Amino acid sequence: MSSVACIFCRIIKGEIPSIKLFESEKTLAFLDINPLSKGHSLIIPKYHGKHITDIPDDHLLEVLSVTKRIARAVGAENFNVLQNNGRIAHQMVDHVHFHMIPKPNEEEGLGIGWPMQ
Ligand code: IMP
Repeated sequence: MSSVACIFCRIIKGEIPSIKLFESEKTLAFLDINPLSKGHSLIIPKYHGKHITDIPDDHLLEVLSVTKRIARAVGAENFNVLQNNGRIAHQMVDHVHFHMIPKPNEEEGLGIGWPMQ
């Protein structure tokens, strides 16, 4: 199931370019276009659903497992996993996604931007 108007469904189909980190039948991981730190990644189920409550459990489990592997793959020792549902909760893209946001230490610098330092 996908949505023609959904930007992440279009990324899944290759209609919008992305820097892909991992892809399987059910899951895609790619770099966030507006990263809060170096390595900020998005991990999404290919199944289109707006909120976490719309996604079948087996898809969600795989997305979480991939999130863990992406954190390891980019070498993030300190990181946040974030998942927003609804505008008031700061969800801007209406396709379920998990952010994996590395938090660089002081020696590594500030990463790319606010607010996660
Ligand atoms: P949200 O606020 O949790 O919905 O976050 C949506 C995220 O999607 C933001 O961090 C955006 O920078 C990111 N984003 C939006 N469009 C694109 C894109 O085309 N490629 C990669 N990331 C995107």
